[in-house]
Amino acid sequence: MLYVYWFRKDLRTDDNAALAGFFKNLPDGSKFCLIYIKNRNSFNYFGEKRISFLNESLKELSRSLSEKDLDLQIIEGKSAGIFREITEKYGKVILYFNRQVEPYCIKRDKEVKEIIDSVGGQVFDYNDTCILEPGEVKNEAGDQYRVYTPFKNKSLGIIGKSHYANIRTDLSSLKKENETDLSLNRHKSIKSEDLKSSVKGIIEGGRNSGISLLKEFYENGISEYKEKRDIPSVTGTSMLSAHLHFGTVGIREAMRTAMSALNKAESESSKTGIQTWINELLWREFYYHITFFNPRLTSESFRNEYDDLNWSYDEELFDKWCRGMTGFPIVDAGMRQLNSEGWLHNRVRMITAMFLTKDLFIDWRLGEKYFAENLIDMDFSSNNGGWQWCASTGVDAQPYFRIFNPYLQSKKFDPKGDYIRKYIPELKNVPSEFIHEPDKMSSDDMKKYNVIIGKDYPAGITEHSLAKERVVSEFKKIKKY
Ligand SMILES: Cc1cc2nc3c(=O)[nH]c(=O)nc-3n(C[C@H](O)[C@H](O)[C@H](O)COP(=O)(O)OP(=O)(O)OC[C@H]3O[C@@H](n4cnc5c(N)ncnc54)[C@H](O)[C@@H]3O)c2cc1C
Repeated sequence: MLYVYWFRKDLRTDDNAALAGFFKNLPDGSKFCLIYIKNRNSFNYFGEKRISFLNESLKELSRSLSEKDLDLQIIEGKSAGIFREITEKYGKVILYFNRQVEPYCIKRDKEVKEIIDSVGGQVFDYNDTCILEPGEVKNEAGDQYRVYTPFKNKSLGIIGKSHYANIRTDLSSLKKENETDLSLNRHKSIKSEDLKSSVKGIIEGGRNSGISLLKEFYENGISEYKEKRDIPSVTGTSMLSAHLHFGTVGIREAMRTAMSALNKAESESSKTGIQTWINELLWREFYYHITFFNPRLTSESFRNEYDDLNWSYDEELFDKWCRGMTGFPIVDAGMRQLNSEGWLHNRVRMITAMFLTKDLFIDWRLGEKYFAENLIDMDFSSNNGGWQWCASTGVDAQPYFRIFNPYLQSKKFDPKGDYIRKYIPELKNVPSEFIHEPDKMSSDDMKKYNVIIGKDYPAGITEHSLAKERVVSEFKKIKKY
């Protein structure tokens, strides 16, 4: 019999629900191992920067385990095949892991459980990814919430200290002599020191960097979150999303930190800042619930009727959006930030997604995939939820006739154009007066500010007011209001 701990989106040893359960229940003298499975096939949505983050996080996890004289065995291959080989070699397996909500992970885990069951083994799984178990929060009719605010209110009524208490993990009970080196024949092991972090993004992987971000945000950011969170030119948000996704920082740790800040906060404005941040954590919970209840979202619109929309698939326009060459500076700055840093400010995620789906009327699925391939923090539930919110096809969606005006968004959230100039060097000399809509410059202005629109920087690829009419008429064809 072999006890196996399977790390997945929980790349830390502290405050880890399933890991704590594993250590607590491991009988004295039992053979055990700690594994991570690297599956090439799941790399469809793994851009290089994301892989670097993952590799850095695995290396650090491996180092922290080796300080306790334990090994992280990183195995390459498909999970089902790996567990088939483990059960063939070791017989009965007792497996521990934290649950995941994504439909493709549920399918994978079901397959693994069948393999373990077939040899009389057992699987123990835990909720660690969310504060509240996905699926737990339901409306009075026992159904899912389709709108965020009532979901949030219900959740806040449920969440108590026990939901974010530290689940202490005591690794000292593990004895090296009982640790089993799997040495599989059909699957390759990867040494953590061989994991490469070739193309780095703006966010560094590993628990240490995650905890530093959380500490910094607690000390210097959370109280002012409400005022600063919408300004892309400043660091006004925690930048913890990739850490929360990979579990290098746990969601309970984030919530505990927020609650501790709330207890200490003296001014009303600090309290509002902290509460606003907690509300963002609850957006994450909301979208995890939505995925739990609607596995079909991997390909379908939440509001099915909108799958009949006559979306555009114009490759040239899509390519210009991807490269940040639309001639709409706030959109281009955002796409260039995404391409160079692997991260994008939430306000600009909304502006760029709204521009693709509304101004260009391109299928949200193309944008979702592009973000998924380029974001370090790609998280199916939040990404799909965010895209469908912007496309007006999802839950709590902006009604289709409410379309962000990219110029007004730009003026409101980047009034001086600092964010735009940072990512679009062609416009670095253009003053605030023209930075949001450089097409408006006269040829004398262009010469003066050293940029020729249409040559050095593109003219707008669409006209916002016309695009808006098109969206409204296309949506109206589907449903009459
Ligand atoms: C089109 C689109 C795509 C998105 N794709 C992703 C994605 O793939 N992965 C991802 O983690 N977030 C995604 N988001 C949500 C949000 O933009 C990011 O979570 C946020 O920008 C990350 O920065 P931060 O960690 O500094 O967030 P903070 O503002 O500090 O918020 C704290 C945490 O709350 C959660 N959160 C905040 N806002 C949201 C939100 N709107 N929806 C869900 N969770 C939220 C995140 O876990 C975040 O780390 C997307 C939003 C949109 C509009």
